[in-house]
Amino acid sequence: VQEILELSRIESGQVPLRLRRASVAEVVLPPVERLRPQAERGNLSLTVDLPVDLPPVLADAERLQQVVTNLVHNAIKFTPPGGCVRISAQVGQGEVVISVQDTGIGIPAADLPRIFERFYKVDRARSRGGTGLGLAIAKHIVQAHGGRIGAESREGKGSTFHFSLPLALA
Ligand code: ADP
Repeated sequence: VQEILELSRIESGQVPLRLRRASVAEVVLPPVERLRPQAERGNLSLTVDLPVDLPPVLADAERLQQVVTNLVHNAIKFTPPGGCVRISAQVGQGEVVISVQDTGIGIPAADLPRIFERFYKVDRARSRGGTGLGLAIAKHIVQAHGGRIGAESREGKGSTFHFSLPLALA
C-alpha cells in the first residue's frame, strides 16, 4: 500500500526533488552497506567499484538511495548462492552512469521491455515476494532527475541495470 501511495504521489508531482551537488558515493554506499548482511546470508559477493575521480552529480541523494536499494535488493533476490553483485559507475557525456550487475537468473527477452511497468513481475508463481512496483518507482525517480534507466539481461546468466544522472556543473 505504501508503495502504491508513493508511486501515485510521485506521478502526480507531489514529491518535489531537493536537488543539490552530491557524490556518487553518498548515493551508492549507504544502501549497499545496509544490504550487505542480506548478501552475506545469500552467500553472494557484493562489490562496489567507483573511480576515485568521479565528478559530482545533481541529485536528491535520499531519493536516489531508494533507487539503488531497489536495484541492489533485486540483484540479491534473483541471484543464487555463490553469485556476484557488482555496483560500478563511469562518466559519460555530461552524465554519470551507475550500473548494478548480477550473475543471477536473468530476465527472458520477452519480459525485459515490460519490467519497468507497474505491478509487472516475470514469474508470478515463483516470484519471491515483492509487489512489482519497485522498478516503476525507480524509473520515475531517475526520469525526474533528467536521467534514463534501463536493463540488459541473459536468461540464466545475469542482468545489468543502469541509470544515468546529470553532472553537477560548476
Ligand atoms: P519486485 O522486485 O517487487 O517484484 P520490481 O519492480 O523491483 O518488483 O521488479 C519487477 C520484476 O522484474 C521482478 O519481479 C523480477 O521478475 C524482475 N527483476 C527485477 N530485477 C531483477 C534481477 N536483477 N534479476 C532478475 N529479475 C529481475
